[in-house]
Amino acid sequence: MARFPNRSSAPNRWYTITVLFLILRNIVMVRPEDGPHENTLGLIADDDIFAPLNDGCLRFAGGSKGASSFKVALFADLHFGENAWSDWGPQQDLNSVKVMSTILDIESPDFVVYLGDVITANNLPIHNASFYWDQAISPTRDRNIPWASLFGNHDDAPFEWPIDWFSSSGIPQILCSSAHDFGGDKCSFKGTTRLELMRDERRRNSLSYTGFGPRNLWPSVSNYVLTIVSPKSDSKSPVMLMYFLDSGGGSYPEVISTIQSEWFRNKSQKMNPDSSIPEIVFWHIPSQAYKNAAKKAAPRRAQCVGSMFEERVAAQEAEMGMMKLLKERPSVKAIFVGHNHGLDWCCPYEKMWLCYARHTGYGGYGNWARGARILEIIDEPFSLKSWIRMENGTLHSEVVLST
Ligand SMILES: [Zn+2]
Repeated sequence: MARFPNRSSAPNRWYTITVLFLILRNIVMVRPEDGPHENTLGLIADDDIFAPLNDGCLRFAGGSKGASSFKVALFADLHFGENAWSDWGPQQDLNSVKVMSTILDIESPDFVVYLGDVITANNLPIHNASFYWDQAISPTRDRNIPWASLFGNHDDAPFEWPIDWFSSSGIPQILCSSAHDFGGDKCSFKGTTRLELMRDERRRNSLSYTGFGPRNLWPSVSNYVLTIVSPKSDSKSPVMLMYFLDSGGGSYPEVISTIQSEWFRNKSQKMNPDSSIPEIVFWHIPSQAYKNAAKKAAPRRAQCVGSMFEERVAAQEAEMGMMKLLKERPSVKAIFVGHNHGLDWCCPYEKMWLCYARHTGYGGYGNWARGARILEIIDEPFSLKSWIRMENGTLHSEVVLST
């Protein structure tokens, strides 16, 4: 979710610094399109197209230290690219880079998940919104940490013309036609599609594990599975499966469709037929079950951790079978969502946990302090722990999600 704050746009020195920063970023982001997984949209198979890097396998750091933990940082609701024609928009992107950098340096995760609303496309009059997407992933890439991303409801939302532009102040100078050499004809208001954003991320980055789902799931795109494999270098045995789903919004309704549920059912049965491998699931917009979990917990906050009452759960528009499938699988340990910037709770629900991430970006609505949810997976014996790491370095809401 995002709302554009009505902030003052008094010019100050930050504007100049910010423009310089963006130009530099633009230069840095032009890397050779080096991905071994590079492909073209012409090669579309009926099954999963553009499978994630290395067959979607992620290994514990291992090495001589024999590391037995695998740490994942969740960056949610960054909302890059807001109000590029003002001073506060670019400034808040710099602030978001700072949040991510601080958390990456404190936690040193093995992997990062970008949990949707990476950009606020409905506030971006730009030909290719990958320009801002790339800025959002840069702190992770700069530290050589692999990552995966999925879509939120703002990532491909159509541009919303600000009413102010039709007043006496008129249409402001738009950065994409001046500062970034994108040329006037490339300053577009049509938006950038999910497929274009994902294709650009993969083509430019050999560290991206993001995958496309099969074509029959479109317009939902970010549907794929990654496997965390054993730290023992001679073993390919899975320690945990991570499912990524597109919960819609933006260019189509906020929902996980019946056909996506069917895809999950087939995929999970194929990869984990006896439910012996622990599984976790990521998407952006909470399912309606989150409302029930919060309601049940409200009187006593029984077993829940984190911020529960800053705002109401803003759930998907409908439930089309996904939750039923997840409830039936004993291997599903937790679901992680973003979307509600004021919530960061985890609550038990049936045999699993429903968790929010933590609003990481300075973009989007709300001024709650920024942070990130961290997951720690331990092998032999398996355990899954989580906590919130804040921008100021403090830690809270530690919880054991599975042992
Ligand atoms: Zn959001």
